[in-house]
Parts: sequence; structure tokens; C-alpha cells
Amino acid sequence: MQQIGHEWVKINHNWVTDAQQNHTSNVVVDDFITPSRYKITFYRQLDYKMNDSCYKIIISACLLGQRVRYDAKVKTYHSPLINQWLLQGIILPVCPEVLGGLPTPRPAAEIQINKRIQTQQNEDVTDSFMQGAEKTLAIALQHNIKLAILTERSPSCGSSKIYDGSFSNMLIDGQGVTTKLLRENGILVFSQFQLKKVQTQLSLLAKLPE
Ligand code: SF4
Repeated sequence: MQQIGHEWVKINHNWVTDAQQNHTSNVVVDDFITPSRYKITFYRQLDYKMNDSCYKIIISACLLGQRVRYDAKVKTYHSPLINQWLLQGIILPVCPEVLGGLPTPRPAAEIQINKRIQTQQNEDVTDSFMQGAEKTLAIALQHNIKLAILTERSPSCGSSKIYDGSFSNMLIDGQGVTTKLLRENGILVFSQFQLKKVQTQLSLLAKLPE
């Protein structure tokens, strides 16, 4: 198992411990190997009636504390809603840039005016970013996913704001390349700051006839 996988298991062990302390036992583990890079693990309550065909949510792996960011830092986004969905077994963590073959750590990259993605050292990394977007879409289609929670401001995952390409921390309206591809394929993409909207969409999906 790669280091990323190790981090994931370690982090989720805490979630399982939390679940057991809160008397939500009967947690089972499912391992899933992504097409190219790493092992991810679902924790699922045995008594949860899960509809595998439409309830799963793709989430940026860095929001769960996976060490996949360009700077290899852990930046977990803590949220009771995400914890609840984890325990329900409907969260599918993905890092498009890792799926695209980029290492961790890696140079920061931003989308330029001409839509190419470049590092500050002018290395063009567009192809890797697009590969990651396509692999993320493939995983989404494989699991019939309708919803995604992706990290705001990222050139892959941003959903309403991205950096302007000047590497000066300036933000502009825009979306990352993975977000764009998922949306073009009918998947609703939200940021980590819109979890209530995700909850609403989940409720609407639950009312759809199978
Ligand atoms: S590509 Fe997305 S999931 Fe991966 S580190 Fe960047 S924001 Fe997080």
C-alpha cells in the first residue's frame, strides 16, 4: 500500500473509533482500488440501506485529510455531515491530480488565460490535469454518481473560484478542469462550503423512482 493509502487507513481508523464510542457499531470495511494509483477504503454501517446506484458522492480526497495536495499538507475539512456520509458508506474520495499521474508534493499550478495549466516555472501540466479529470469522470460514471464535493479554488476541483494564473493569490470566477468535465456530464458539483445544498440534493435523489 502506498503512503496515501496508509494515511487514509490511519485517518479512518479514528472515524471508526469515533463511531464505536458513539455506539454506532456494526461498521464494515470495503477496499476499493482506483484504476491507477491508490487504495481507498469505505466504512459502512451494516444496517444502512444503501442504494449503490445513485447515492454515492465523490469528494476531493484532500478534504478528508489525505496527503494528496500539491504541498503534501494535511488539510482536513471537518464537518458532521461528511462524517455522517462516511459512516453511511456513500463517500468516494478521489484526487484528480494524483489520478492524472502527478506526484505529491508537486509544484503549484494555475489555469492561465489561454486555458492551459502551468506551474510557476512554466511547465505545462495540462495533459496530466485532463487525464485526472477523465479518470475522475470514469469513476463517477462507474458508480452512477450524481453529486460531487470538490475543493474550492483548485485548478482541478474549484467550483466557483480559481486562482487567476499569476501565482499571486488573486482569485477570479471560474471552475477547475475536473469540475467542468463532471458538470458537462450532468454531475452536480458543490464546494466544501455548500454541504447543506448537497444534503438537499441527496434528499431529492432519495425520492427518485429507481
Ligand atoms: S486535485 Fe482536488 S483532491 Fe487533489 S489535492 Fe487538489 S483539490 Fe485536493
